[in-house]
Amino acid sequence: MPLVKISEESIRRVAEIISGGGLAAFPTETVYGLGGDAYNPAALAKIFEAKGRPRFDPLIVHIAAVEALECVADTGLLDGAARKNLAALAGRFWPGPLTLVLPKRDAVPGLATSGLPTVAVRIPAHDAARRLIMLSTGAVAAPSANPFGYLSPTRAEHVLEMLGDKAGLILDGGPTTVGLESTVLDISGGQSRILRPGGTPKEAIEAVIGPVAVGLVAGESAESVPASENGMASPGMLKSHYAPRVPLSVYGNDSPGAMPNQPGAALLFFDGASRDAWLAGQRPPVNAAAIEVLSETGDAIEAAARLFETLHRLDSSGVERIHTQLAGDKGLGAAINDRLKRAAVYPQ
Ligand code: AMP
Ligand code: MG
Repeated sequence: MPLVKISEESIRRVAEIISGGGLAAFPTETVYGLGGDAYNPAALAKIFEAKGRPRFDPLIVHIAAVEALECVADTGLLDGAARKNLAALAGRFWPGPLTLVLPKRDAVPGLATSGLPTVAVRIPAHDAARRLIMLSTGAVAAPSANPFGYLSPTRAEHVLEMLGDKAGLILDGGPTTVGLESTVLDISGGQSRILRPGGTPKEAIEAVIGPVAVGLVAGESAESVPASENGMASPGMLKSHYAPRVPLSVYGNDSPGAMPNQPGAALLFFDGASRDAWLAGQRPPVNAAAIEVLSETGDAIEAAARLFETLHRLDSSGVERIHTQLAGDKGLGAAINDRLKRAAVYPQ
């Protein structure tokens, strides 16, 4: 049985597998990760292989404590302002769902960073994850434990369903608490820039370091070709990503009434009031195959935690397509909308 509950013994087993060049899946507060030794090119190659992930999509390196940062990143290459931002952000958000892009050390193989001179680093806010990192090599590359492009796993069972044997051992810590990937913030040069919205809201980051830019730098394309060839800032920005197998369409937060009453379709509302307004606007019969709500009260934190889980469930429930209401664009709503919009680009 590749699923094992968290215990000191199972954490040690996972650490041994990773130290030995193998892969194992484990929970973090964001989503389940497929981990391998970040210093070992053969282990990194196995991660790309198991996920079917293109080599131009760099991996996040997970460390257990801020003292380990210099092993993977050369913060001496940052200018004074960036160094101050790093200290302030690490102090406020680590451990937690914030990934920082920093100048890379040579010890990190180019395969981990897709040839970029920078490395993406974070400290997960999950005790078992930090412990296994500490017991292995101290730096674990761990992208989401799913096939490339597909919905991220927020439960051990999702990993088993999607990767099976390819995940090796799967450490089962129950559902993840944040439910969305980390925010990726590049502080490696000039203006700080969010390359991928995620579990740490932009507003919270700006409260610590002031205004940040969002998205790719002008002239860069998110759609194609290797990072090393076109300077693409962050392949997490690829247009189609995080997608279910069935087609998904999105509707504005303020126009849930536009969602169709279509046989065989699932309707996913952000909040209970929108569902009620939609139901009130329909002439019977209601034909939708399923009607779900991410958060009855419209709480973005709860909605984020349930997003991927709900999409996994709908995706395997036999519905023909999913119509989804977007969140409001504030706080975690921005990351929820980012995932939904990219899940809506079909076919994958
Ligand atoms: P994942 O591991 O699937 O959560 O995704 C990692 C994401 O982090 C990538 O898709 C990129 O968007 C981003 N990333 C990782 N390393 C870098 C880097 N050196 N520069 C810019 N973005 C990065
Ligand atoms: Mg991923």
